[in-house]
Amino acid sequence: MHRKPVLAANWKLNHTPNDARAFLQRFLAQVPKLNERTLVFFPSALTVGTVIEGLKDRPEIWVGVQNVHGEAQGAFTGENSVLMARDIGARVVLVGHSERRHVFGESDAHTTKKMALVAQARLTPMLCVGETLEEREAGRTGEVVERQLAAGLAGLEDGQVAGIMLAYEPVWAIGTGRTATPADASEIHGVLRRALVSRVGDKAAAGIPILYGGSVNRGNASQLLAAPDVDGLLVGGASLDADSWASIVRA
Ligand code: PEP
Repeated sequence: MHRKPVLAANWKLNHTPNDARAFLQRFLAQVPKLNERTLVFFPSALTVGTVIEGLKDRPEIWVGVQNVHGEAQGAFTGENSVLMARDIGARVVLVGHSERRHVFGESDAHTTKKMALVAQARLTPMLCVGETLEEREAGRTGEVVERQLAAGLAGLEDGQVAGIMLAYEPVWAIGTGRTATPADASEIHGVLRRALVSRVGDKAAAGIPILYGGSVNRGNASQLLAAPDVDGLLVGGASLDADSWASIVRA
């Protein structure tokens, strides 16, 4: 089955609303409507509204949020909610990004809860999975990503699983300049695809895009995107510069 490639920019804690306006002006001038790709921006929460406003004439480009709290509302000072994300016009939510897991101590149990909440809110969850260097060197990559995937899907009905996006992001490759080879990425994407098939069957699994992320840049994007089973890219550092990101999305 042909899956439309998904190219997603994770701005992490970068780009103020003013930076985002300048970015979009420069980026949109270089990127005409791309029917054959889905583009997603994940700005930080305080910049999301500005990006949505800046893209009002380009509704084919999606905007998402980098994280939500595990409850939809309540006494959780400093957090962001799926209800607010939906209300502001976001369409996707990153869940279980490696920095959430490793810097902020999020567990598989958190991702179970957040995935279910995001799906209930009728937003698209993009679940991130990936092994540490230590786990990779111990030959545990497959086991780790399968466990993270199972936890992410544990609170979803099969119909909701069919609507997710998945990103394989080896922790050792994020922000380090080290990238998985296209063959390594294909191998793990194959593991994830088989796990999806055993959870929801061939047909539903075939529609779920699996993105690769980890030090993607303009030099390696085309090769990674051309690798079997790689359906898109989730890009941090190289998405911060409008020219660099424009050249990657046209890769
Ligand atoms: C990311 O933040 O998801 C990521 C892959 O970052 P980088 O491209 O900078 O490695």
